[in-house]
Amino acid sequence: MSQQLTLALSKGRIFEETLPLLEAAGIRVTEDPEKSRKLILATNDPAVRVIIVRASDVPTYVQHGAADFGVAGKDVLHEHGGEGLYQPIDLNIAQCRVSVAVSAGFDYDKAVRQGARLRVATKYTKTAREHFAKKGVHVDLIKLYGSMELAPLVGLSDAIVDLVSTGSTLRANNLVEVEHIMDISSRLIVNQAALKLKRERLQPILQAFEQAARRSA
Ligand code: ATP
Ligand code: MG
Repeated sequence: MSQQLTLALSKGRIFEETLPLLEAAGIRVTEDPEKSRKLILATNDPAVRVIIVRASDVPTYVQHGAADFGVAGKDVLHEHGGEGLYQPIDLNIAQCRVSVAVSAGFDYDKAVRQGARLRVATKYTKTAREHFAKKGVHVDLIKLYGSMELAPLVGLSDAIVDLVSTGSTLRANNLVEVEHIMDISSRLIVNQAALKLKRERLQPILQAFEQAARRSA
């Protein structure tokens, strides 16, 4: 097997926050995904390339070996299930949380107490299903792909399950966070076969990532 390495990243926050970790491993991405439309980016190391995919697609590329390794949020990994993935390092980047939020006027605790059936809009259906099942709350899940904050405002749902970091998006839309489901940061994920077959190439990079992540923790 060739010792060419392919790293899967998503544009934006994860790409930006992974750059310093790559730098620590001596790898510099030589193209800017925000300026170029290219989906395969070169690095200063001819044996390492970066592919740009949707955040929620990173585990899929790595699971199938189309990428040897990648960076994905725990939110995304939990939904994916982690099959075929080795998850050695918490990179402590892109930190936020998954929470339940409702419209400011909605009495969530009362609805839960009364055993009401809740309509919950989210792109995190697995996480939401598990959370409400554990609480014994009946929910109708409504799958969305973005802008979850809108759903309670227009009567699509009673609640949302979404990422929160500062809470300013919730506040701007008159929503309140009522439950914290899990803390999120991004992990390095590695294809299990690549870990064995490309160990020699991967190991020094994983080590550099681990040290850099520990320094910034
Ligand atoms: P897409 O745009 O493809 O629908 P996305 O909006 O989830 O995906 P990003 O916003 O780049 O993509 O988020 C990528 C990851 O970064 C998320 O899976 C999560 O782990 C983390 N993340 C998202 N929003 C925040 C935030 N506000 N603060 C910190 N980390 C975040
Ligand atoms: Mg986003």
